[in-house]
Amino acid sequence: MPDNDRLYRFLIENSHVRGELVHLNATWQAVLERADYPDTVKKVLGEALAACALLAATIKFDGALILQIRGDGPLHLLVAQTTSEGSMRAIARWNDEVPQQGLHEIFGQGQMVITIEPKHGEAYQGIIALEGENLKDALEAYFTQSEQLNTRLWLAADKNSCGGFLLQELPGDKHDDISWEHFHQLADTLQQDEILQLPPQDILHRLFHEEDIRLFDPEPMCFRCSCSKDRISSVLASLGSDEVHDILEEQGKIEVDCEFCNAHYEFDRIDVDALFAPAIGSSTVTKH
Ligand SMILES: [Zn+2]
Repeated sequence: MPDNDRLYRFLIENSHVRGELVHLNATWQAVLERADYPDTVKKVLGEALAACALLAATIKFDGALILQIRGDGPLHLLVAQTTSEGSMRAIARWNDEVPQQGLHEIFGQGQMVITIEPKHGEAYQGIIALEGENLKDALEAYFTQSEQLNTRLWLAADKNSCGGFLLQELPGDKHDDISWEHFHQLADTLQQDEILQLPPQDILHRLFHEEDIRLFDPEPMCFRCSCSKDRISSVLASLGSDEVHDILEEQGKIEVDCEFCNAHYEFDRIDVDALFAPAIGSSTVTKH
């Protein structure tokens, strides 16, 4: 069995190529527990979750990376998210039979947006055209256009686990360096069931046994939702007092369910009043 719920980084020594491997098992099961996804949705959602982990590991940041696809096709919403600490969550929404492949057939007209949300500072968004057979095609095209770093991905998902493999060419003097071509051709022989079933050391040995590989300590990944009553409160506060009080009048209380983890939040009149009450210490000064 592969090492579950871990992300590995590696370097191919004496080359300009680095890579990552991820295998998600309990994390993936926690996502699947929360909705009865058809097999075709499982496949693309699992691949998106694995891709999310791989992409986040290619950048140095402190925050969250969100991969979101919206379209007008049978699968009309897909969101996968990971934080730099390895907390992951994902959902998909579908309303029709979802085909096996073809991003256009699966999602219809739409786009993929990758958002990097640092804990401090401005968020960054990259917009990716939904072109090609699968997520791998669209993401590789995006890297070619935006990063100028050659990047290749291999993704796989089934009902038990999901995982992925990434190779990236590092910047630097690559005069007469044929290693990139050579290594990604080797990695092209990787089968989906190998990604899902082989331990990372075995995958690396199988592909690059003639090379000296530096494999770093793995990083744990897990399912953890970032929702909280405080976060929902700030969303309600942003709607404004009038709108929130209108819902309260209509329904007696405000109920919010988190789409990602099914957590249920309730706000009664006391909660809502507290939400819009002036903060202690900033109350208006009364004249005597
Ligand atoms: Zn949640």
